[in-house]
Amino acid sequence: MPPTQSLILVIEDEAPIRHFLKVSLENANYRLLEAFSGQEGLTLAASHNPDVILLDLGLPDVDGLEVISRLRQKSLTPIIVVSARGRESDKIKGLDAGADDYLTKPFSVGELSARIRAALRHGARAGQEARPPVFVSGGLKVDLDSRLVWMEGREVHLTPMEYKLLAVMVGHAGKVVTHRQLLKEVWGQAAGQQSNYTRLYMHQLRHKLEADPARPLFLRTEPGVGYRLLCQD
Ligand code: CA
Repeated sequence: MPPTQSLILVIEDEAPIRHFLKVSLENANYRLLEAFSGQEGLTLAASHNPDVILLDLGLPDVDGLEVISRLRQKSLTPIIVVSARGRESDKIKGLDAGADDYLTKPFSVGELSARIRAALRHGARAGQEARPPVFVSGGLKVDLDSRLVWMEGREVHLTPMEYKLLAVMVGHAGKVVTHRQLLKEVWGQAAGQQSNYTRLYMHQLRHKLEADPARPLFLRTEPGVGYRLLCQD
């Protein structure tokens, strides 16, 4: 249960899905605002400053991607795309437009809650000046000041590029990061569309950090989209 009742704005034109989200989220003790269209969503986002926005991409008036761009012109409020379209290209477009995460319909209440919690954590962090210098998830520990990495208490030696990739994943911990985002943040614009860079270095990183690199516990693949660094207690 969140310590204070976080406000979630749902922008969704389909009544059954809105109803499902309303019941699920109110049961989980969130406050809810509902918008039936993109325009209404933009108005409510501006007037109520929600903590998280759940956004359907297929809206009757304004395209969901356009809604993301307009929201991003004004705020960093975490946006989770809720899309019936399972197509990777839609998810990637949403993330590249500035969304923080996505859920593909149908999804479970557990999955929805986990994504919202991650988004709230990230939103809180975005409001602070500095990131916590030490990231811990399960047996993984990353000290962002000293640039040292440990797994199960043992120091892991990474190359500068492997470390940079891991540090970017830590910066987006719990959230999906697209191949394009990684290329931009780790290699800079010059890398273009060379997503084999990300695959190659992710492969190396997993071999150094994961007990079973084929079944990663930390650096998960989001098929067709990118990667997610899982946050464990
Ligand atoms: Ca829709």
